[in-house]
Amino acid sequence: MSATTPWFGTPRDPGVVPIKKNLFEEVIHATGDLELVPVFPYLGDGAIVPCLSYAMGGGGAKKFQFFHANDVPEVMICLSEHNSALRAGMLMSFPDLHGVNNFLKDVDDEDAYMLVVVAIRMREGAQHEGFLMRCRECNEPVFRLDRDIKEGPERPYYPEFYALRLYADAVDQFNASDRTCAKCGTVQEPFPQDQLGWKRYARQVELANRARAAVEAQGV
Ligand SMILES: [Zn+2]
Repeated sequence: MSATTPWFGTPRDPGVVPIKKNLFEEVIHATGDLELVPVFPYLGDGAIVPCLSYAMGGGGAKKFQFFHANDVPEVMICLSEHNSALRAGMLMSFPDLHGVNNFLKDVDDEDAYMLVVVAIRMREGAQHEGFLMRCRECNEPVFRLDRDIKEGPERPYYPEFYALRLYADAVDQFNASDRTCAKCGTVQEPFPQDQLGWKRYARQVELANRARAAVEAQGV
């Protein structure tokens, strides 16, 4: 196997090696709310991908709500929380379409947080996810973007979990739209892109690969 193969492996690949991670320490590497940081670098077909995710109160954080469509089940376990709608040890299995928010009772509480792991199964072939926004007044769908999350820019050195790029792109498109409900006319608030970690994650994966490629190209 090549030196890079294990990074793209599945549990069935002999090159995949066990890795030990401290999930609490991994929080340091997340860049924003609900980033879904893949805990292990194994994102290929057949992999179960545990992703670390948090939300914090204070610092001008805003409440948000979106809906997530997924054609495979997701399982979430809460590791720790304070002043959250979740409880430590709570295990939830999400249906194919479910609402997502920061699960904090008081988003202005600087001590409020929730820390969860969301496990996502990567099946063979295409895997579709959708990002939906509904009207805050009448619940009418006002925006939706769907994509095969197996597709994204080629990453020769460090794999990218492409679902986060879908969320980031969806937020950019939603915020650039007129955000007006076709049913009741309510103009929706922009989604707080900077509070979420999705766009920074996608940019930093790109940077990591570009920086490594530059060094490799120099033959050092
Ligand atoms: Zn409406």
